[in-house]
Amino acid sequence: MQTVDTVIIGAGVVGLAVARRLAASRQVVVLEQERHSGEHLSSRNSEVIHAGLYYPPGSLKARLCLEGNERLYRYCLTNRIPHSRCGKLVVAGAGQEDALEALYHNARDSGADGLELLPRATLANEEPWLNATAALLSKHSGIIDSHALLQQLAMDAENRGTLLAFRHRGQHVHCTPGDFELTVESDDGPFKLRCRQLILAAGLGNVPLLHQSLGFPAHAIPEQRHARGNYFSLHGRSPTQRLIYPLPEEHGLGVHLTVDLAGQARFGPDVEWINVDDPPDYRVNENRHTAFVESIRRYWPRLEAKRLSPSYAGIRPKLFFNEQPVRDFLIQTEQDHSLPGLINLLGIESPGLTAALALAAQVEALQG
Ligand SMILES: Cc1cc2nc3c(=O)[nH]c(=O)nc-3n(C[C@H](O)[C@H](O)[C@H](O)COP(=O)(O)OP(=O)(O)OC[C@H]3O[C@@H](n4cnc5c(N)ncnc54)[C@H](O)[C@@H]3O)c2cc1C
Repeated sequence: MQTVDTVIIGAGVVGLAVARRLAASRQVVVLEQERHSGEHLSSRNSEVIHAGLYYPPGSLKARLCLEGNERLYRYCLTNRIPHSRCGKLVVAGAGQEDALEALYHNARDSGADGLELLPRATLANEEPWLNATAALLSKHSGIIDSHALLQQLAMDAENRGTLLAFRHRGQHVHCTPGDFELTVESDDGPFKLRCRQLILAAGLGNVPLLHQSLGFPAHAIPEQRHARGNYFSLHGRSPTQRLIYPLPEEHGLGVHLTVDLAGQARFGPDVEWINVDDPPDYRVNENRHTAFVESIRRYWPRLEAKRLSPSYAGIRPKLFFNEQPVRDFLIQTEQDHSLPGLINLLGIESPGLTAALALAAQVEALQG
């Protein structure tokens, strides 16, 4: 049986960022079940570089989002990855001003900067199409070409000696402290692989993999549910070049407007609970059209419904322990599962794209 230092399961943005980081000091193999990197969460998102507005101060999401934001802009500049620090407005309708102010204070307490509360008059002047009584401007929010990011991370990881094994699925792990034996399914049939360090960065696939693993404590496995996020694109000219967000909802950031690097606007994602036992279904639920129009008209009353058409969808892994939602990233280490050498990256939904480089630095610090 072949033995390597480190195996990473999953070649999304997180697995690749971790591989790039660790490959400088050890032999790394990345197992990816698909033919290409980033076929799931990492290419089915809003491509927004978040600026740390929403998360409880001190949480992993707040800290890693802010650190990741800085790292990501620097990485984009160094590697010429298409991006834009276009800025974002979180808009309040009548009666929502207090909630907007609370968001502003939350962001400040988290350490975010580049923030400004804009009154109605400024908005009427700068974004006259918007129906809003006030807005929070975040100057360090932006957009990125997520495919170019994935490509660059993969290239860096490979240049540092990482072996990226596509069409290789981690099926089963036999866990003992500091020693992990994997059964890997490949086009040439199954084989076994052994490693001292194992990093699970399998996105939607992490919890199912834990259920197929021997030696991982059952109490540390959260329940996973799936929340699809549908997107609709806008025909014709975008009314703005900034990102426009309503105030956040319980399980998402609200149906927002993002403008891609070609200037094309799209709206989403909404939150649609789907069956976790079905294979990921990325078809847009077209029945959501009316609900989209209603949500968007709260801040853009003159939107013409016929300008929206189904675009794409992504799926968020939502975690629960005893019916209670896990709201933060969940990075499980030896302290959680008594298995030195194993790092388990769970619930890496938004802002995981922004935070990926910071998550990778955190994993390196934990692995020593
Ligand atoms: C709708 C939506 C909108 C979002 N918007 C934003 C945003 O604007 N900004 C932001 O910062 N973040 C956003 N996010 C979050 C961001 O997309 C994710 O946090 C990030 O992409 C997670 O990356 P990942 O590498 O963990 O997961 P993935 O990209 O899903 O990678 C996991 C990989 O593991 C592979 N895999 C799974 N099981 C196995 C197995 N057993 N063996 C081998 N390989 C396996 C999968 O094929 C996959 O390629 C959004 C997410 C969603 C769903």
